Amino acid sequence: MDRIASGDGAAPCAGHPAPGRAAGRAPTISCDVLVVGGGCAGVAVAAGLRRRRPDCSIVMVEPRAEHHYQPGWTLVGAGVLDVRRTVRPQAALLPDGVTWIRNTATAFEPEHATVVLQGGDRIRYRVLVVCTGIKLDWTAIEGLAETLGRNGVTSNYRIDTAPYTWALVRALRGGRALFTQPEMPIKCAGAPQKALYLSCSTWERRGVLDAIDVRFHNANAVLFGVPDYVPSLEGYVRRYGARITFQSVLRKVDGPARKAWFEVRGDGGAVSLREESFDLLHVTPPQTTPDAVRASPLVNAAGWVEVDHHTLQHTRYGTIFGLGDACSAPNAKTAAAVRRQAPVVVLNVLSVLDGRSPCAVYDGYGSCPLTVEHGKVVLAEFGYNGKLMPSLPWDSTKPRRSAWIAKTRLFPHLYWNAMLRGRNTFP
Ligand SMILES: Cc1cc2nc3c(=O)[nH]c(=O)nc-3n(C[C@H](O)[C@H](O)[C@H](O)COP(=O)(O)OP(=O)(O)OC[C@H]3O[C@@H](n4cnc5c(N)ncnc54)[C@H](O)[C@@H]3O)c2cc1C
Repeated sequence: MDRIASGDGAAPCAGHPAPGRAAGRAPTISCDVLVVGGGCAGVAVAAGLRRRRPDCSIVMVEPRAEHHYQPGWTLVGAGVLDVRRTVRPQAALLPDGVTWIRNTATAFEPEHATVVLQGGDRIRYRVLVVCTGIKLDWTAIEGLAETLGRNGVTSNYRIDTAPYTWALVRALRGGRALFTQPEMPIKCAGAPQKALYLSCSTWERRGVLDAIDVRFHNANAVLFGVPDYVPSLEGYVRRYGARITFQSVLRKVDGPARKAWFEVRGDGGAVSLREESFDLLHVTPPQTTPDAVRASPLVNAAGWVEVDHHTLQHTRYGTIFGLGDACSAPNAKTAAAVRRQAPVVVLNVLSVLDGRSPCAVYDGYGSCPLTVEHGKVVLAEFGYNGKLMPSLPWDSTKPRRSAWIAKTRLFPHLYWNAMLRGRNTFP
């Protein structure tokens, strides 16, 4: 891995000399493949490309020095995993030969096959892969940003607050615990209720669950988007005595007063404001694409990178691909989906570089290991239109101990050692 600290004028990638600085203009560097976003999708694609075509020049733009294993944060919030095991240095993950520019893409100019970086540097590409993930919009809820991580307000959606979830859960002996879920789509749609189930499971084990009023405010109209999994989940909601309010959107939080306000849509469509006090508030924030992507010509009307749902090629720009959370394909936004998407994008990028049409096809697979209690997981695996796609010949709607072992041991291993190394992996 070669690293370029960009901002003062980026250096060229190996084998592709920069044309030099034109009067008054930042230099442009060139590469075969530019990957914007070095999260799970970006690293998997870069590694897969290196594996299949070592002489292809690849540049990755990623601002963060650390790579996060986000699926682990549910377990961090439940006291099952040490947060330090969800972080690795970005530099240790990128394969040799990939040039990492530690910067942020601020503008996309598909007509000129160019991406602009913060500071003005420009990168010209033959093929662009956009995988910037999702922006968590903490400021969309009044008062939330000021109090997050204090006053009983937490979220497993951040590495710095997931440990606070566990601190709160461990300490709670009675009172009221609120869990929220914003409107879809969000990354890992099951994560808001995973936080609820594992917290309740802890309180049940400690004999304090009956003293805690557990409430789930879900902005959507259903508990889970794939109906086959709902009966199992409803069974756990009943077991834990949690009360669900559907179509209830968190609007405002006052941390010091320990109060939250929700807009609740009634059966007739009328919206009312409901105030609830809390001892613990677990928030899942509203989610969109990052600003630079949303402001670019690459997105559809809803703000997602507009791709063909099967080839993941952009529907309007043939030399652009999108995958992961930022893309418009209507799969579950999960690392499990990326595991299936990345090899497809690798093959199709190489086809386009070779002047051929993309032919590899993504089947819509996504997976959500629903941690319904300590020691058991409902391993939801499904594709487009809610079609069940279990990897093993079992009833995937049932909670299983083996699926818990997969979630806590096998999946992290696959993530770090297979997926991020560009290896095609199960499932
Ligand atoms: C609490 C939680 C639980 C989860 N549980 C699971 C689970 O159990 N199973 C599962 O499969 N998935 C789970 N997920 C979802 C999974 O982590 C994501 O779907 C996956 O990380 C998506 O990969 P990505 O590469 O698209 O985005 P990310 O991994 O988020 O990476 C995006 C990268 O793009 C970078 N970036 C953003 N903007 C720019 C820019 N303008 N220029 C350059 N770089 C940019 C970011 O810095 C980031 O590194 C969970 C997520 C969370 C938060």
